[in-house]
Amino acid sequence: RQDRLGVVVRRIEFDHALAKEAIARGIEVRDGCAVETIVVGDDGVRVTTADGEVISARAIVGADGVGGIVRRQAGFARGELRAQVVELDTEAVPQDLPRDTVVFDFDTRDLNGYTWDFPTIVNGEPLVCRGAYVIRNLGPDDARARIGAYLAARGLDPKRYRHKQFAERGFEPGAEIAVPRVLLVGETAGIDIATGEGIGQAIEYGSIAGRYLADALAYDDLGFTDWRRTVAHHHLGWQLALRHALYRVFYSHRRARIEPLMPSMHQLFRVGVQDFAGAPMSRLAIMRGAGQLLAAYTRAKLA
Ligand SMILES: Cc1cc2nc3c(=O)[nH]c(=O)nc-3n(C[C@H](O)[C@H](O)[C@H](O)COP(=O)(O)OP(=O)(O)OC[C@H]3O[C@@H](n4cnc5c(N)ncnc54)[C@H](O)[C@@H]3O)c2cc1C
Repeated sequence: RQDRLGVVVRRIEFDHALAKEAIARGIEVRDGCAVETIVVGDDGVRVTTADGEVISARAIVGADGVGGIVRRQAGFARGELRAQVVELDTEAVPQDLPRDTVVFDFDTRDLNGYTWDFPTIVNGEPLVCRGAYVIRNLGPDDARARIGAYLAARGLDPKRYRHKQFAERGFEPGAEIAVPRVLLVGETAGIDIATGEGIGQAIEYGSIAGRYLADALAYDDLGFTDWRRTVAHHHLGWQLALRHALYRVFYSHRRARIEPLMPSMHQLFRVGVQDFAGAPMSRLAIMRGAGQLLAAYTRAKLA
């Protein structure tokens, strides 16, 4: 257990704060302004909005999330790694852990994903945000059925709560995330498929893209041929690559063999939790974690 790992924030409040910060920095933010078409040409990009306005730009950044149009209209592949999420808010139940705890529950072994309980406050009322994260490309499954079973096991009637359903797109190592004049970031490019985490990742994509674009525009070099390599060389790139590797190992036939070894890898978990919290990871902790992983692997081989 580690204190002060983070805070639970309602998305509507978080996005509002982010938009206010962008406006304060002189960025024009247009709300309720849908982009309908983008046409990428040799000398620029033409963007048409739902109210008919046409905007010409030297380049476009696809930051329009899992259901956006940039990826589709600029001709990128759809992407293989997909998850389904169902989320709802309920009152607390006696089985819940203390309210300063966030729960990622991997107990159900035939679920490629997890269920969660996060304490939350809605209109001043303390509630629990619960949800099911289901990786769909690994086989047919249904997040609604999963959260239904999860609620029933806690004595909650699923029919009493408004279910909100979403999709998520995972980052695929090696997949294209740029073409000339079009740069993909955030969930348009792909986020962590192992956990469905994407907020910190989207912000990190943004901070890398800002500097990258400033140089590209200054040198009028808008081919974006090294965008994938640039991301790969940052913390974000190796975090996404590592989590993709973990996804492949954990959600596989090896899961039953790996789970019993996990309690002996507490250093590795500590490093993972630090990364989850956005804290810098100490090299010593990484080395200790790697040592524990090696020892656990050797023990499993000898057993
Ligand atoms: C239920 C749920 C819970 C989650 N919980 C967490 C969590 O606890 N922690 C975490 O790290 N991640 C979480 N995620 C994942 C996270 O929300 C996303 O990965 C993250 O928001 C991606 O950020 P983004 O900026 O790339 O895209 P988004 O946040 O999806 O933003 C895309 C924006 O583009 C806009 N847009 C789309 N199409 C158009 C268009 N045609 N014209 C104009 N604008 C357009 C959208 O309106 C939206 O504002 C959760 C996801 C879900 C579904």
